[in-house]
Amino acid sequence: MIPGLLVALLMACWTLLLVWYRRPLHAFWREPVLKHPVLILESDDWGAGPAEQVPALRALQELLSARHDAAGNPAVMTLGVVLAAIEGLNPEEGRLQMSTLRDSVNAEVLAALRHGEAAGVLVPQLHGFAHFEPSVLAKAATVDPAVAAWCVEAAPRWTEDLPSSLQSALIDGAGLPSGELSPAVIADSIARQGELWRDLFGSPPRVAVPTTFIWNDAAEAAWGAAGVRWLVTPGHRATRRERDGNPARPDRRCLTGQRSPAGLVYLVRDVYFEPARGHGISTVLLALATRIAEGRACLIETHRFNYAGPHATSQSLDSLGTLLDEALRQYPSLRFLSTEALGRALEARDPALVAGSLGPRLRAWLARSVGLPRFGRLATLSGLLPVLRGIVWVLP
Ligand SMILES: [Zn+2]
Repeated sequence: MIPGLLVALLMACWTLLLVWYRRPLHAFWREPVLKHPVLILESDDWGAGPAEQVPALRALQELLSARHDAAGNPAVMTLGVVLAAIEGLNPEEGRLQMSTLRDSVNAEVLAALRHGEAAGVLVPQLHGFAHFEPSVLAKAATVDPAVAAWCVEAAPRWTEDLPSSLQSALIDGAGLPSGELSPAVIADSIARQGELWRDLFGSPPRVAVPTTFIWNDAAEAAWGAAGVRWLVTPGHRATRRERDGNPARPDRRCLTGQRSPAGLVYLVRDVYFEPARGHGISTVLLALATRIAEGRACLIETHRFNYAGPHATSQSLDSLGTLLDEALRQYPSLRFLSTEALGRALEARDPALVAGSLGPRLRAWLARSVGLPRFGRLATLSGLLPVLRGIVWVLP
């Protein structure tokens, strides 16, 4: 009688747990599961700007071209590209003088981007017009002498040196907490970016990466209208900055393959490799192992500042090479993909990459669920997790 009662209690407890967490658990089940380990390097902030980027782009191209996955494809780095750079400030008009990637001052950088793209190892993605909203930067320059000095200093100007709030190009970060930009300003800016992109690269931008990962519905609608289909996210969305300058609490969680209300498909980039800040490869390799168990691609964020500019070191490049070599050694079936190629494969449910059978899908679902805050601990304490692991273990 007592064992029967205990079993009934346990079953009730597990049911309660599964019902309580049904939404995220169901979302994890719907998220596609990859058959092979996939590693994607994502590097933002390249494009119009200092010519010092050129040797860095060439070095990255060489490093990537020397490494191949099991299918014979070279390593790939997607580049979050900005299309315009500051050339000066007109103090009388209070306006910035800007150049775009179409202008001769940026010709060498554009040539290096195109060279890497033609070699199949550098893949441009839309990161923004500039890494700031020009009207907001001009406004900030009227009240902040450091910003004004940056606007007029001799080249090279690295946008990484601007206050973070000004690097968020889709909000008014001239003051904190940040203000909103009007939807018309956002729509005009992104429409112009789409035109420039088509001019430069011959097709609409397909993947966008919001600057500093702060964006809103107006931006999503404008990206969709410009031809963007996939949006790189950190797994959640912030739409503004707080008084302390930090991004506000997320208003939305994003899973890979999830369609936004504007029709874009979210992808998740949540592994960080910034060797110039001391990030080591062991942490990245651990994250890669977790993503593989979860049946997810490992999108690794590694910004321009590691490879070009005042904080760049040759050690960053060496570490990147070591990371790729070690990932290939540990996972011989590893695939190098671009973010767009991943998006297309997921959308088409490409059977070469996306698992359809129950066993791999359940194993990935369980690995994802264990990582869910609190659920993993409660499932362990209640004995649900060992039971689920047993079920998954006997499946083919
Ligand atoms: Zn950026």
